Amino acid sequence: MKATVFHKHGDISVLRVEDMPEPAPGLNDVIVKVQACGVNRLDIYSRAGRTKVAPMPHIAGSEVAGEIAAIGDAVSGLTVGQKVAVAPYLFCGQCEFCRSGEEVLCLKSDIVGLGNQGGFAELVRVPAASVVPLPKEVDFVSAAGVALATITAWHMLTRQAPLRPGQDVLVHAAGSGVGSAAVQIAKLSGARVIATVGSAAKMEHARKIGADEVINYREQDFLQEVRRITNKRGVDVVVEHIGEETWEKSVACLTRRGRLVTCGATTGNDGKVNIWALFAKEIALIGSYGGTRQDLADVLKLVATRHLQPVIYGTYPLEQVGKTQQLMESREQFGKLVVAP
Ligand SMILES: [Zn+2]
Repeated sequence: MKATVFHKHGDISVLRVEDMPEPAPGLNDVIVKVQACGVNRLDIYSRAGRTKVAPMPHIAGSEVAGEIAAIGDAVSGLTVGQKVAVAPYLFCGQCEFCRSGEEVLCLKSDIVGLGNQGGFAELVRVPAASVVPLPKEVDFVSAAGVALATITAWHMLTRQAPLRPGQDVLVHAAGSGVGSAAVQIAKLSGARVIATVGSAAKMEHARKIGADEVINYREQDFLQEVRRITNKRGVDVVVEHIGEETWEKSVACLTRRGRLVTCGATTGNDGKVNIWALFAKEIALIGSYGGTRQDLADVLKLVATRHLQPVIYGTYPLEQVGKTQQLMESREQFGKLVVAP
């Protein structure tokens, strides 16, 4: 089968399309014929060596949608040819967190395309337990477009820091996968959405997907703008995924008993906290990691009923995986980049 692989870590020049052996299903696995695979920052981290990957040569790609091509002997309830999306957060099913139904906290967790071969290939092997059937209204590109970033935003805003109608929320980088999903989910919750973007062109996009107020962070100070928009009150929730570059100001944007929920640290892992403000304002700093299989099923249902619109910037062949990573690093795109093998 054709796949985009790298034999060693490095810049995008290490990526090449090669023939790789076709995967065979283990007892509890399925083989998915990949029709679409979303591009994620994880692909850049794994190629560059910021996260551990195995095996080498490695196939990245975590956000898979396609058709079941083969089924392991112990699998029931799935059929060859069935259209599915793959829940990317893998879990052991046996540790104390899995036993409690908290699969994203699994002690032996992995992600499709990190400790195993991913979806930038014609075929991928995944655990049967991780596939979610596609509603008939949802196409492969849309499904791949929501398989990771959207379930992450969903987990953040429905589980870790849920919003109530009328609350104010700040969403960073509305043009990113997590940001474009968080804007829509916050809007569905009835909140007033303040979004940041990095260019004038993206401001209109952000409004179109539901942002009430849009801040161009390259030209305006987002903390001052949040204070102005909220009459110095601050917001109830900040959706953080930028990290070091925005962290202190994000915390400062919170109103009393405000909650900052974070799922990423694109610009660096260190952030200072004003402890006095933390206790005096009864602020909560909340981590959020991925999403569950049910989060994916919930999100796909909302895509099917058009309550959620996957924001797709473009689709690319396997030969252009490197180009998609360049686009993502330049922060030029608005919405998801999807590879269609
Ligand atoms: Zn586990």
